Amino acid sequence: MDGSWRASEGRHHFIGNRWAATASGESLPVTDPSSGEPFARIARGNAADVDTAVQAARRAFGDCGEGPWGRFSAVERGRLLTKLSLRVQEHAEELAGLESRTTGKPLKQGRNDAAALARYFEYYAGAADKLHGETLPYSAGMTVLTLREPHGVTGHIIPWNYPMQIFGRSVGAALAAGNACVVKPAEDACLSLLRVAELAAEVGFPDGALNIVTGLGNEAGSALAMHPGVDHISFTGSPVTGSKVAQAAAAHHCPVTLELGGKSPQIVFADADLDDAVPVLVNAIMQNAGQTCSAGSRLLAERAVYEELLGRVGAAIRALKAGPALDDLDLGPLIRRSQQQRVWDFLSQAHADGIEVAAQGEVVEQAPQGGFYQAPTLLRDVPPTHPIGQQEIFGPVLAAMPFEAEEQALSIANGTPYGLVAGVWTRDGARQLRLARRLNCGQVFVNNYGAGGGIELPFGGVKSSGYGREKGFEALLGFTRLKTVAIRHG
Ligand code: NAD
Repeated sequence: MDGSWRASEGRHHFIGNRWAATASGESLPVTDPSSGEPFARIARGNAADVDTAVQAARRAFGDCGEGPWGRFSAVERGRLLTKLSLRVQEHAEELAGLESRTTGKPLKQGRNDAAALARYFEYYAGAADKLHGETLPYSAGMTVLTLREPHGVTGHIIPWNYPMQIFGRSVGAALAAGNACVVKPAEDACLSLLRVAELAAEVGFPDGALNIVTGLGNEAGSALAMHPGVDHISFTGSPVTGSKVAQAAAAHHCPVTLELGGKSPQIVFADADLDDAVPVLVNAIMQNAGQTCSAGSRLLAERAVYEELLGRVGAAIRALKAGPALDDLDLGPLIRRSQQQRVWDFLSQAHADGIEVAAQGEVVEQAPQGGFYQAPTLLRDVPPTHPIGQQEIFGPVLAAMPFEAEEQALSIANGTPYGLVAGVWTRDGARQLRLARRLNCGQVFVNNYGAGGGIELPFGGVKSSGYGREKGFEALLGFTRLKTVAIRHG
């Protein structure tokens, strides 16, 4: 593991391509979820630090693109992102180690996230010079065109569950479109992102194009959301915090993209290929110990196949092992004690309400007592309106429920406050299309499921899952604003 974050002595942000001392001189501990022990410190950023970072970004961009970074052409931005993608690949093992240590995810998942980060930069590198406006038919003697321009300074508030992936999809697209970025990563897991910012400086991103302020959400995060010098905010996290961020941004009329999680259904019909489905269904909830916004956390199965499916999914879950991140088992620990307690509270409520545990995996014996572990769990016959069937648990808990007919499946699937992703498993082509249209969410997977996967695929939600789209080419549009130029030439 590289020691660059140690060089920051826990009291430095990364602003203007340098380690910048935090205004207060205060720091925060970083805890290893596998052991429950603190092992590093980060700077406790405040409004003054955020202001310094926003000013650095503004200088890089300029008021209207005349700064050193603002003058980079699209092809130059693409080339820099290509270099960064390659540099991330060179440092993939180091980045994966930092990610796994701080989030608790098994090393293979940390490696996957480092590869995804490089791929985001590669994708947006190639897209940077394909982003353009249009000419529009209008009156005789006039030419009207649209210009796709960057917002200017973009703020990025990142959660702890997939720091590198969410950074890649949000900051990669924003930089490709020409914005200067100020990032507030989650206090629990930001060491990998500090290292990526250093790598960006090494490959030649100019001072201020990419800045990171670490610290707490209600200090550094809220300061970023309310800073009048920020032109766009991209937020991923909980619905409650998302509302606060949107309200703070609204005070200065700043556009916001919100990605707020889900309670995504996997709908399995009796004609589905269960051999194909079962491993995907299990992975869709157990990946990252269930701490995935697009986790397939509800299993809706047609009555005729319900018991067989529960038997097969249950057997797969019983075989899963949770343990320390660096042991690289199926699951790591949860991110922190409060998250573990949250999952326990849901499970206690399920128990009190008579909901049966159909299967449980194992926390391995060598897992340290202080770590935040939870055995993977399958709950059966969960009433669709029970909190277990409605709320985002954010742990390795799959809620199974039977349905009798397609219409009922749709009503259960659409019947939560969320609408992020849905999975449909059937060989019936007409039914595939019907459900794809009638599911009220941002992504539908048919006979497969990508819990957060698919760099090229626009991603985002409806209802309490948020609004705006990240990933794919669509994200680039979100990180630009359109200017119309109407020229009368006779
Ligand atoms: P959170 O929403 O509080 O934190 C996400 C990010 O927002 C972090 O960087 C945090 O520091 C920042 N933040 C917190 N308060 C802020 C504020 N007032 N203003 C600006 N930024 C602020 O999420 P959490 O408390 O870490 O997790 C709680 C729940 O959120 C989880 O149990 C889960 O259900 C959900 N969650 C969802 C996702 C997702 O990918 N959609 C990610 C993380 C958490």
